[in-house]
Amino acid sequence: LYVDHPLTKGQTVSLNKEQAHYLFGVMRLTEGTVLSLFNGSDGEWDAEVVSAGKRAGELVCADQTKPLQLPPDIWLVFAPIKKDRTDFIVEKATELGAARIVPMQTEFTNSGRINQERLQAHALEAAEQCGGTYVPEVADLVKFTRLIDDWDHSRQIMFCDESLVGAAEALGDVKGGPWAIFIGPEGGFSDAERARLNGMDCARAVSLGPRILRADTAAVAALTVWQQQLGD
Ligand code: SAM
Repeated sequence: LYVDHPLTKGQTVSLNKEQAHYLFGVMRLTEGTVLSLFNGSDGEWDAEVVSAGKRAGELVCADQTKPLQLPPDIWLVFAPIKKDRTDFIVEKATELGAARIVPMQTEFTNSGRINQERLQAHALEAAEQCGGTYVPEVADLVKFTRLIDDWDHSRQIMFCDESLVGAAEALGDVKGGPWAIFIGPEGGFSDAERARLNGMDCARAVSLGPRILRADTAAVAALTVWQQQLGD
């Protein structure tokens, strides 16, 4: 269970109304139950329910069961698509260990805004579900040009595009360091965006195979390939 609270031995943790309702009203948990808590920065802790009300509850932290596991420094930068598919991308990126998720507005991006709070909640749920101790930040929507103008060139870019160079070849000679994966929208990157990315010394164009993948599939495939080549 994710809590927005510091976690240390003996620490009392108060639950909010929704959490108390779910745990004690819906799941019918009672005092004495031991739950796993994490807050995104202190690892995972066993905590015992000491008070279980319909609208409030308290737990006391016992022992740490997992240290904080920070993912490798890989960002997923993607152009938001339909709502449910964008949710899917955020969920899968969290499961696959993205450190940060950056929605980007490109020339051919249909969606001009995102609900950052809702996407952040999806990331949190996904981290809870996969037993992660870290929740990636979902950034606010940023324009492609702004993102590239401000880019820190020490962060390398895996630019997913139709290209003859497969991932193993494109990434084979590199080690570690901060990285970002770029995935375009359904209409792909524009010629100007392609030229901009291809002109960056820190960007490598990478093919994910001979077929055109949907953006959500491409995000999952790219993260999997990156993690296999350079990640944990
Ligand atoms: N309409 C675009 C086109 O025909 O070029 C296809 C865009 S695709 C649906 C969405 C994004 O997924 C692309 O911009 C790219 O970043 C990524 N992608 C899809 N298939 C890929 C592949 N085989 N290799 C690398 N990237 C791919």
